[in-house]
Amino acid sequence: MRRPLVAGNWKMHGTRASVAELTKGLRQQAVPAGVDVAVFPVLLHVADVLDGVSGGVVMVGAQNCAVEPEQGALTGEVAATQLRDAGCKLVLVGHSERRSLLQESDEVVVRKFAAAQSAGLIPVLCVGETLAQREAGETLAVVGRQLASVIESLGVDVFRQAVVAYEPVWAIGTGLTASPEQAQQVHAAIRAQLAAASADVADGVRILYGGSVKAANAAELFGMPDIDGGLVGGASLNADEFGAICRAAGN
Ligand code: PEP
Repeated sequence: MRRPLVAGNWKMHGTRASVAELTKGLRQQAVPAGVDVAVFPVLLHVADVLDGVSGGVVMVGAQNCAVEPEQGALTGEVAATQLRDAGCKLVLVGHSERRSLLQESDEVVVRKFAAAQSAGLIPVLCVGETLAQREAGETLAVVGRQLASVIESLGVDVFRQAVVAYEPVWAIGTGLTASPEQAQQVHAAIRAQLAAASADVADGVRILYGGSVKAANAAELFGMPDIDGGLVGGASLNADEFGAICRAAGN
């Protein structure tokens, strides 16, 4: 039985004041005991958010880490070991905004995934196709390739301590959501690809759906057999909306 995870990606949003307000709102949410919750603030706000959620159930993660796991001469980057030292538990790797706007290749994503795990962080590997790729019938091939790059370099067992997030690029921040059936098809393919290498890894790994998840569509998406929660962008910036999504994951 997989425990659902609802993760809020706050992207490059917020000031210290607005983030303090959001964190306070988050603490007031009733979260079902069987659901894990994490938020991913801007790095600058991580310490404040950790203080704000301390004693509660919400975990804090980072949106990115350096390819090198250890601290060193790499101006502007933050090492996974430093994130761990600061109190982060997870880190996003391969978010489509970084893949497309910052040209992060599969190879870089694999290195970040490995760096995260070597530091004891849980990597949340984001995969997903563009609209053009979906329209060309390439969805499963694209997602399969992104997943294969990690399996081939690091082995399937790394997914015992990782999360996968399927995020169709065309659904991120657009208000368009994959239908539960469309999402389920891709989630099942991801699980089958992992199962081809290890049935028990595939069975245990949590696969989140991301792309315009909100309180109004969460229950339907989370009701699909291979959807184990959500990676939520815009809607996670509203504590009540995010709380409602977390509660939908508990049903
Ligand atoms: C995201 O950025 O990971 C995301 C899913 O964003 P949104 O929920 O706003 O589509």
